Amino acid sequence: MNYAIATLGSHSALQILRGAKDEGFRTIAVCRGDHAFIYKHFGVADEVIEIESYSDFPAVEDALLERNAILIPHASLIAYVDLKAIERMKVPYYGNRKILFWESDREKQRIWLEKAGLNLPKVFKDPSEIDGLAIVKFPGARGGQGYFLVRNEREFKRKIGDIKEYVIQEYVVGIPVYIHYFYSVIRNELELMGFDRRYESNVDGIGRIPSRFQRDIKVTYTIVGNFPLMLRESLLPEAFRMGERVIKASREICSPGIYGPFCLETIVTPDLKFYVFEISARIVAGTNVFMETSPYALIKHGKPMSTGRRIALEIREAIEQGRLKEILG
Ligand code: ADP
Repeated sequence: MNYAIATLGSHSALQILRGAKDEGFRTIAVCRGDHAFIYKHFGVADEVIEIESYSDFPAVEDALLERNAILIPHASLIAYVDLKAIERMKVPYYGNRKILFWESDREKQRIWLEKAGLNLPKVFKDPSEIDGLAIVKFPGARGGQGYFLVRNEREFKRKIGDIKEYVIQEYVVGIPVYIHYFYSVIRNELELMGFDRRYESNVDGIGRIPSRFQRDIKVTYTIVGNFPLMLRESLLPEAFRMGERVIKASREICSPGIYGPFCLETIVTPDLKFYVFEISARIVAGTNVFMETSPYALIKHGKPMSTGRRIALEIREAIEQGRLKEILG
């Protein structure tokens, strides 16, 4: 094949590039100089293009065009490179570029998820409305850094300081479940790739100290890693239905809608309800726990299949069927 798969060296790049090689593509990692050795070390990149900082990414446009590269987005690309600059780049891009504007804006996300009829945590528009445990979040995919909990307006005012941009959401007590989906345009089918839960500092460390010391700890949610998770089988139908509704709603808000990998971030309560607090409209790092395969992807495909490899398989099938245009956005 005359195409290369390229991505920014961070987040899920090892998985994406390894998957692309498994499907027969040439691979390119665009890396910050101090990260390049990782991609060389693991041998997943046929070529490493070094940049000084993430904001220099748009400057590699010509190099990627010359190499017939298809760019695969992930959270680091979206978080560290200006969205408008990504939108302007002429490099073929896997996915619907415009959907990123829906993902990166919490209000738009909410409109999308409400349209899909999903169960969402309440949002308190004003701190005076806080009537129970609430989580305070900041803009952008910051990996939970600095988020905190409050119970009322007084506590909120004490903790917020002079921060102006925030969202106050009902804190749903349950367990977090991150659902990994892949919607294939070429096969016209939604696939359930797997589930993970996150390992966050310091909230996941709180249980390691006696309760009398816990109250002095300022709890926050900085993501450090992920664990694989198998869901009760009786919850799979609802997980599928939620994914399908999200795709349908996305076609109304941002044609041709979402395709490829995406993730619903949920809390499951003891009555087995999913509360969706966020959507990621591209590959999530939680899929890295299945860098070889998830059990679901293995039984679906009859061979190991990571989300990274699934992306490459989709691109390969699109090329073979002369349908590449349908999946580049
Ligand atoms: P980010 O988008 O910055 O990665 P998230 O929105 O995923 O941050 O939230 C970080 C953490 O906070 C996650 O562990 C998640 O489980 C928890 N969390 C977020 N929103 C809620 C909520 N409404 N109820 C309970 N826990 C939540």
